[in-house]
Amino acid sequence: MNWITNYVRPRINSLFSRREVPENLWTKCPECGTMLFHRELADNLNVCTNCDHHLAITPRARFTALFDGGVFTEVKVPEPVADPLGFKDQKKYPDRMKSAQKSTGEREAMLVAEGEMGRTPIVAAAQDFSFMAGSMGMYVGNAIVAAAERAVKLKRPLVLFSAAGGARMQEGILSLMQMPRTTVAVQMLREARLPYVVVLTHPTTGGVTASYAMLGDVQIAEPNALICFAGPRVIEQTIREKLPEGFQRAEYLLEHGMLDRVTHRKKLREELVTILRMLTRQSAPIVADLPAPGVIPSALPDADAAPDDDASAATEGATPAPAAAKA
Ligand SMILES: [Zn+2]
Repeated sequence: MNWITNYVRPRINSLFSRREVPENLWTKCPECGTMLFHRELADNLNVCTNCDHHLAITPRARFTALFDGGVFTEVKVPEPVADPLGFKDQKKYPDRMKSAQKSTGEREAMLVAEGEMGRTPIVAAAQDFSFMAGSMGMYVGNAIVAAAERAVKLKRPLVLFSAAGGARMQEGILSLMQMPRTTVAVQMLREARLPYVVVLTHPTTGGVTASYAMLGDVQIAEPNALICFAGPRVIEQTIREKLPEGFQRAEYLLEHGMLDRVTHRKKLREELVTILRMLTRQSAPIVADLPAPGVIPSALPDADAAPDDDASAATEGATPAPAAAKA
């Protein structure tokens, strides 16, 4: 009988207990402590329904929410050399990579995609903080270069969502070399006269802040995102002074002229569409229900007179554009 109690029963128990662990069903909001049900949280784009705190969102979930109908095509990123330094700390670098790939289901810390957002064709790249703190290594560098090249080829704007703990130390100087590399990629967009919009998400730090994340034509941040080169704790220890409230947070940086906008995640898509259409001189986005197809041509000029805030904001910006072109 012993094998039943000692072997079979624990096995059966482990099968059942494994299934019943509600580990991923509830997430605790780090800001207000509310327990959030996973489906409710996902429907709200990972923004706390109680206090509006912006929790991390995966690039894939972000793209699904961003692109029309959740449809996008991934842009292929060239594979870099694996583990060029044979790096090892507590764990070997390849082992760290494997466990990050397993836990996130992604190849690396950046996802690049193309598609349409509010009927505006774009290329988008998003960094994944859950993948080794979104650290910038050769792959991330390759991803940004691939995104910029694709945008130039298709003549589309590039939207980049940053989130990073900085450069990837396991790649040493090779990760730091991605700073000038990605800067050149941004310059390619500039030369092709294509808009490059950066959305800084919590947290964006280190070498990423010191390169492509701060080079946008328009710099948007999500509320309360930490954006810095050296973190507040390091600065506090260095200068031995207490830092002001909200230091290096999105709202503080907006007030001090480092950002153009701080935008709630749920309003981000609409705002990006408006900005990108303005910058590429496309007609103002139609925010309301679309008119019947036959009505479109005559309805378009009237769109300027629409009382909607976003439509009027778009036309205000769009009006001086033709004048600038003549001059
Ligand atoms: Zn909360």
